[in-house]
Amino acid sequence: MSWFRSLIHVSAARASSSSSSAKSRITDPFSYSLLSCFTTEARPPALYSGLGATKPGEKPRVVVLGTGWAGCRLMKGLDTKLYDVVCVSPRNHMVFTPLLASTCVGTLEFRSVAEPIGRIQPAISREPGSYFFLSNCIGLDTDKHLVQCETVTDGADNLEPWKFEIAYDKLVIALGAQPTTFGIRGVEEHAIFLREVYHAQEIRRKLLLNLMLSDVPGVSQEEKSRLLHCVVVGGGPTGVEFSGELSDFIQKDVHQRYAHVKDYIHVTLIEASEILSSFDDRLRRYATKQLTKSGVRLVRGIVKDVKDKTIVLNDGTEVPYGLLVWSTGVGPSSFVNSVQLPKAPGGRIGVDEWLRVPSVQDVFSIGDCSGFLESTGKPVLPALAQVAEREGKYLANLLNTIGEAGGGHANSAKEYVYKEPFVYKHLGSMATVGRYKALVDLRQSKEAKGLSLAGFVSWFIWRSAYLTRVISWRNRFYVAINWLTTLVFGRDISRI
Ligand SMILES: Cc1cc2nc3c(=O)[nH]c(=O)nc-3n(C[C@H](O)[C@H](O)[C@H](O)COP(=O)(O)OP(=O)(O)OC[C@H]3O[C@@H](n4cnc5c(N)ncnc54)[C@H](O)[C@@H]3O)c2cc1C
Repeated sequence: MSWFRSLIHVSAARASSSSSSAKSRITDPFSYSLLSCFTTEARPPALYSGLGATKPGEKPRVVVLGTGWAGCRLMKGLDTKLYDVVCVSPRNHMVFTPLLASTCVGTLEFRSVAEPIGRIQPAISREPGSYFFLSNCIGLDTDKHLVQCETVTDGADNLEPWKFEIAYDKLVIALGAQPTTFGIRGVEEHAIFLREVYHAQEIRRKLLLNLMLSDVPGVSQEEKSRLLHCVVVGGGPTGVEFSGELSDFIQKDVHQRYAHVKDYIHVTLIEASEILSSFDDRLRRYATKQLTKSGVRLVRGIVKDVKDKTIVLNDGTEVPYGLLVWSTGVGPSSFVNSVQLPKAPGGRIGVDEWLRVPSVQDVFSIGDCSGFLESTGKPVLPALAQVAEREGKYLANLLNTIGEAGGGHANSAKEYVYKEPFVYKHLGSMATVGRYKALVDLRQSKEAKGLSLAGFVSWFIWRSAYLTRVISWRNRFYVAINWLTTLVFGRDISRI
C-alpha cells in the first residue's frame, strides 16, 4: 500500500496548502482531484493527486516515459525486485514498427504488431508499487524529481483530462520522435503519417473506401482516377516498404476483387533526391527496378503545398490524389523541443556515453528522442529500432547494477563509478520492396564494405529476421498465421 500512502501524502500536503488560499486553488494547474472526473457539478475544492516520493526502506521508483522500442526494452530488462516501475504513455502497447506497413493492406492484422505493455513487463499489472498511466508527460521538474502528466481520455464524453504528478528516483525519457512536415502547408490536415496503429487503420479505411466509392455509378472517370491515386511522399525505407505492400495488394487482390476499377488504381512515390539513400548503390538500383516493375511511379520532386485533393510540386505540377501517405523522416517532438535539458545536434535530448542527461541528477534518455552530446565526440545515432532497443537493454542493465550497489534512490548514485559506456554497432539494414523481394545491406556504415543482397533470399531473411524479433510468442504466432492466411486466401478486404 506504499502507493496509497504516497497518494495520501501528496494529496494532504496539497489540500492543506490549497485551503489556505482559495485563489491558488483556482490558478493551480495541477489542482484537480481524481474524484472531480466523476461529478457533473462544478469542480469541487481542489485536491492534488499523484505519486509522492519514495521513502528509505521502500523500493526506489523508475519512471519511464514512452512505450516504444526503447522504453519497452528497458522495462523488460529492469529488475523489479530492485525497482518499482511506473510507465507513462498515451498508448498501452508497443508497436512493432517494421511490420506496420503490412497492416495497412491487410497482410497482417493490427493486433499482430501491437504488444500490450503488461505482457512486456508483467510487474506493471501485478506489483503494488508499479503502474501504467495512460497519459502524456507535459512537464518536468528535475530539481524536485517530479514529472507532470495529463491523462488521455480520447475525447470521451463528460470526461475531461486531468493532471497529476509523479515523483521519481530515476527517470528514463524515451518519448520517440514525431514526423517532419518541413512546415509545408496542408500536410497535417490532409496527409496520413505511418507511425502508429491508428495511422495504419486510417490508411486502410481510406484505401478501401476509395476503392468502393470508385465503383459506384455516377462517379466521373476523372474522379475515379483521383480517388484511386495513392501518393506516398518520402523514399526512405518506410515509404518504399509501404509502396511495395500497396503494389502487391493491387496486383494480387485489387485485380481479382475490384476488377471493374483495377485499371484506375496507381501508386506514385515522390522523393526529393534518391530513394533508400542509406542503402548500397546496387541495392538502390534494384529497388528502383522492382518498384517500377510493380507499377509504382517514381517521381523526383519536392512537395510545396498540400490541398485536400491535390498536391503541388516545386515545378508547379498539380498531382491529384485520393490517399496521401507522408513519410519524410522524423524530428524532435514539441515536448522535447520545449523541455529545459541539454540538447544534442538536431535538437534531441543530449546524453553522455552512459545515456545520462548531464547537469541533472537521475535522468536518462534513450531512443529517437535522444542523441550523444557534441562534447562526447560521438555522432548522433540514427532513428532506428535497433538503436532504441539496444539503448533500452544497456540502460536496464546499468540501472540494475546501480540498484544493486544501493544507488537506486533519488540523489543516491552520486558516488557510483560508471564503467562500460554504451557502444553502438550497426548490424545492417533491411527493406522489402514487394513481390517477395527485399534488400539486405549488412555494411556497418554507408562508406564501409560488406555483404549486400537483394531478391527472394533477402526477402526470406527479412521475414525470418522480423519473425524472430517480434516480442512475444503470442504475436509471433499471430504474424505467422496472418502470413499463411494471406498466402492461401489473399488479403482481407472488408472495411470494418
Ligand atoms: C513504419 C515504420 C517502420 C520502421 N521500420 C524500422 C525497421 O525496419 N528497422 C528499424 O531499425 N527501425 C524502423 N523504424 C524506426 C523505429 O520504429 C524507431 O526508431 C523506434 O520506434 C524508436 O523507438 P523509441 O522508443 O525511441 O520511440 P517510439 O517507438 O516512437 O516510442 C515513443 C513512445 O513515446 C510515447 N510518447 C510520445 N510523447 C509522449 C509524451 N508526451 N508523454 C508520454 N509518452 C509519450 C509514444 O506514445 C510512444 O509510446 C520504423 C519506423 C516506422 C514508423
